[in-house]
Amino acid sequence: MTDKQLTTTAGAPISDNQNSQTAGERGPVLMQDYQLIEKLAHQNRERIPERVVHAKGWGAFGALKITEDISKYTKAKSLQKGATTPMLARFSTVAGELGAADNERDVRGFALKFYTEDGNWDLVGNNTPVFFLRDPYKFPDFIHTQKRHPKTNLRSAEAMWDYWSLSPEALHQVTILMSDRGCPTTPMQMNGYGSHTFSLINDQNERFWVKFHFKTQQGHAHLTNAQSAAKIGETREGYQEALFGTIENGDFPKWTMQIQVMAEEDAEKAAFNPFDLTKVWPHADYPCITIGEFELNRNPENYFAEVEQAAFSPSNIVPGVGFSPDKVLQARLFSYADAHRYRIGTHYEALPVNAPKCPVHHYHKDGNMNFMGQQTGNSDAYYEPNSVAGAPREDATQAEPPLKISGDADRYNHRDGNDDYSQARALHDLFDEGQRARLYANTAEAMQGAKADTIERVLAHYDQISPAYGKGIRAARKALNA
Ligand code: NDP
Repeated sequence: MTDKQLTTTAGAPISDNQNSQTAGERGPVLMQDYQLIEKLAHQNRERIPERVVHAKGWGAFGALKITEDISKYTKAKSLQKGATTPMLARFSTVAGELGAADNERDVRGFALKFYTEDGNWDLVGNNTPVFFLRDPYKFPDFIHTQKRHPKTNLRSAEAMWDYWSLSPEALHQVTILMSDRGCPTTPMQMNGYGSHTFSLINDQNERFWVKFHFKTQQGHAHLTNAQSAAKIGETREGYQEALFGTIENGDFPKWTMQIQVMAEEDAEKAAFNPFDLTKVWPHADYPCITIGEFELNRNPENYFAEVEQAAFSPSNIVPGVGFSPDKVLQARLFSYADAHRYRIGTHYEALPVNAPKCPVHHYHKDGNMNFMGQQTGNSDAYYEPNSVAGAPREDATQAEPPLKISGDADRYNHRDGNDDYSQARALHDLFDEGQRARLYANTAEAMQGAKADTIERVLAHYDQISPAYGKGIRAARKALNA
């Protein structure tokens, strides 16, 4: 086989890719050596803005298989018994930048894109069932505390704990973060959760509230802080090596898919707000129902094209799946798609990794990098409504049932009447002695560098979660001479 001809981006043959064109052997480079300029210009444009959060990620393709009949809850075709749907998963850390070490203690992103016959369904969750906040007003400030201080350019324990001491709803998630599960060994050895409450809609147009869970079939495995430091000393790319390696070896990881379901009218009656992202739905009240599993079995051919440019957004839903009034979900419906418009471009959903595997017909027009032309199948159909035969039309049968919500438009204090402690206590109390000792030690270690009065303020919250919890952290601080 002869090698391929090297060409310019315009397709013309290149005669020399080693030597620049100069005036005389020792003379300056000529302006007409355009391919040199092109090469350097391309290099300057090799990066796109990294994600502000979840910058470092690891991805693979696979398939979701539904094994149980949940048609009484949803008409989603990809959730019917026997359905198999191709998918992409991207795991990530939250705080670290693109070059961060993989094995740091952090929440992990767990983003799934299902390429269904009714369009892409993205479940953009984490490896934790809850989050640090329940009101999206707090998200940018919270993330600032996790990122670098503007002057020192270092991460600040004082900022993190000061914020948490004034935002006790975060401590349920902080408890998970500082527990064993806060530092999973590999992406294969952790669960995923949709975290938010979503809805399922059946063919009678009845709505159910739902939580999605993905339980690892590889078993949980975690690193202690000391093991994580040692691992990072060996390699900063532990997750990429593990995920890529296991799939390359044909040892395909799997997760069991489960749902918790709540009748629509029960949302008003539940003792807790089921749309509060800092709360789980207790298993005893809302048991996990196994509905299928997914397997990851193909590595991307090109990391940049298929993982860095993968654009997940919770706004991508399909018939039979819907949103919920969760305020943080509502804010993410805007901000994820907007992040991709900014970092990838207007037509990010037309890139192969993001493009639906079903026909796409819309009236959006032009814009930077529109290589698809008019997506209506007819150049006369570039506005709507129109009388062009065969042009894309809305379908009223796809309407969701109305959301029954009453109340005055106002700013409701998300702290009023909210219990920030019970669920963190339930988690603390289910840990065994060893798990608690590690929780206290990890928390005490993370507090190093924060001011004494900040720590006292946050410890007062831990005392309210459980006196044993506050006492345990104090003892662990003493052991560190803090
Ligand atoms: P259960 O006893 O039924 O559930 C306890 C759950 O805790 C387990 O099923 C497991 O979740 C999870 N868990 C075990 N170890 C850890 C850990 N180190 N870090 C985080 N989670 C862990 O009780 P409840 O449903 O009433 O929940 C009690 C507490 O458990 C909650 O307050 C919450 O903190 C935590 N939890 C609850 C979940 C839920 O959806 N109800 C999900 C995850 C955690 P899993 O089965 O998902 O592996």
